[in-house]
Amino acid sequence: MENGFKIASFQKDHDRLQPGFYFSTLQKGVATFDLRFKKPNAGDFLAQAALHSIEHMLATALRAGPFAAHILYFGPMGCRTGFYLLTEGMTCREALAAVNGAIADAMQMKRVPGAEKRECGNYLEHDLAGAKAELAAYSALLAALPDEAVAHEEERLSAEVNK
Ligand SMILES: [Zn+2]
Repeated sequence: MENGFKIASFQKDHDRLQPGFYFSTLQKGVATFDLRFKKPNAGDFLAQAALHSIEHMLATALRAGPFAAHILYFGPMGCRTGFYLLTEGMTCREALAAVNGAIADAMQMKRVPGAEKRECGNYLEHDLAGAKAELAAYSALLAALPDEAVAHEEERLSAEVNK
């Protein structure tokens, strides 16, 4: 039986999706961005420990950064190809700037924040070096994003905002 309800992120053609930075949805004024680190279903996924550490590192850096008031949530995709960033009142370029700034701050971290036993549900499963390696790769990818790609996401977000 076909289930008639599909959530927006499942409607994308994951066979064609490349790593990048995508606007996904705007719901009740909250924008969801997909930080796609890995090409879906290509056999290369974020290792669980690195994924977990990036969650801690970027969530901390985003909430401590200049856009903190606009950051609602940052968390991992269960498929381990990337992360979701939920924001309020930010353009696509501002969200991208927030991510770039948070990655720069995360690269300076000497330890994974919030990774004590009392703070985390799986405190032994962290990998600071692995997280930094993935963040460096994603940062390089973002730096190489063609401006048209960012402009395209910006247009999609503004179309939703102006609906
Ligand atoms: Zn944790």
